Amino acid sequence: MYFLDALDAADRAFHQEVLAFLERELDPALAAADDDQRTFVADHHRGNAWLKKLRPRRWHAGHWPASAGGAGLSPVQNYLLLYALGYAGAPAPPPMGLIYVGPTIVRFGTPAQHETYLPPLLDGTDEWCQGFSEPGAGSDLAGLSTFAERRGDRYVINGSKIWTTDAHHANRIFVLLRTARENTRAAMSFLLVDMNTPGVSVRPIRMLSGDHEFNQVFFDNVEVSTACRLGEEGQGWEIARYLLEIERGSFVFGGRLRRRLEKLIERIRAANRLSPRIAAALAQLDCDLLAYESMEFRMGALGAGGAMRAASANLIKIEWTELLQRIDDLALETGDASMLFGPPDSAPDGGLPMAPALASCFNNLAATIYGGSNEIQRDLVMRALRQVWG
Ligand SMILES: Cc1cc2nc3c(=O)[nH]c(=O)nc-3n(C[C@H](O)[C@H](O)[C@H](O)COP(=O)(O)OP(=O)(O)OC[C@H]3O[C@@H](n4cnc5c(N)ncnc54)[C@H](O)[C@@H]3O)c2cc1C
Repeated sequence: MYFLDALDAADRAFHQEVLAFLERELDPALAAADDDQRTFVADHHRGNAWLKKLRPRRWHAGHWPASAGGAGLSPVQNYLLLYALGYAGAPAPPPMGLIYVGPTIVRFGTPAQHETYLPPLLDGTDEWCQGFSEPGAGSDLAGLSTFAERRGDRYVINGSKIWTTDAHHANRIFVLLRTARENTRAAMSFLLVDMNTPGVSVRPIRMLSGDHEFNQVFFDNVEVSTACRLGEEGQGWEIARYLLEIERGSFVFGGRLRRRLEKLIERIRAANRLSPRIAAALAQLDCDLLAYESMEFRMGALGAGGAMRAASANLIKIEWTELLQRIDDLALETGDASMLFGPPDSAPDGGLPMAPALASCFNNLAATIYGGSNEIQRDLVMRALRQVWG
């Protein structure tokens, strides 16, 4: 890691502590199982098994303040932790709870909401999913139509959310919806809903590979207390933007990408496919990844200010997703048939019989779509630059 030289003694000692922990606690078989991950998040059981190992040190919530039950790591230490986990191939548990909504509740929640939602999230009792996208509202999120009608101290919710990752595992969902009929962002609110409330139902959406990762969630006259609203009525858009900034920019992908590139180089060498053209493509990828790591460290760990703060999240999202797909393109170009096709019975629930490596590459095609497509990210970067340039 090129940036280790820039660390002070305390951060270097912390890094050593993380490496020693990984050496001791991360079973290489657990890591290898996720190298060809077929879905956006790690396999549910492997992810939860790994969370149990992180919990005693609070490293599953490294970026949360200590007062809220997290590890209270500095941004640099949190970066070192996440880079090392990714490089070692530790399973990436679902981010919707611990990474997205947890810090959002810390920021916008009341003391009573902190008490209700944070402890069960930290100890693994609660699993969350994200209810933003709708059949008619993806990139144009402000066009969503799920509606919560106020009746005294209750809301009655009707509508549906789509592409809801892991809704079939979750017992809670955070929902961006309308609480007023006007077609403005000020009509939106942010609710924290128990999935077991009568009227909530989950319909699976199967992927081409046969895997079940996302769902459509329906709200049919779902009655909840106004106490489950995060922030004020009409503050939903601001809260969603805060959460999306975390979603797009607070991951550290450098370590995972570096591991994927090194695994690819190993595969190419073992298959004796290192032609001059492939070597040049690998060298270019290596340089571009180094540039990405440098950007990720500067923006993610050291922090960008002003108008570029949000745009840095957009830039990070564009860069890691496109690098991932370039690594995969080269993997497919240099792979043999065994990397592509699995035995006929290898796909769950009648999906296409793909080998794990191909299913993983297909899955990574979604990376430039989820969290807001890269076209939308580019548009947001352009808007931020306009502010900076005037
Ligand atoms: C694997 C995966 C998991 C997901 N998980 C969740 C989840 O858990 N919860 C959740 O709420 N959502 C989730 N999503 C949904 C995701 O946020 C949306 O797919 C994404 O925001 C794009 O919206 P859309 O699919 O409606 O595409 P559309 O908005 O219909 O876009 C289609 C295409 O048009 C382009 N486009 C649209 N508008 C513009 C524009 N103004 N300028 C230029 N190009 C434009 C887009 O870039 C895209 O290429 C997930 C998606 C995927 C793929």
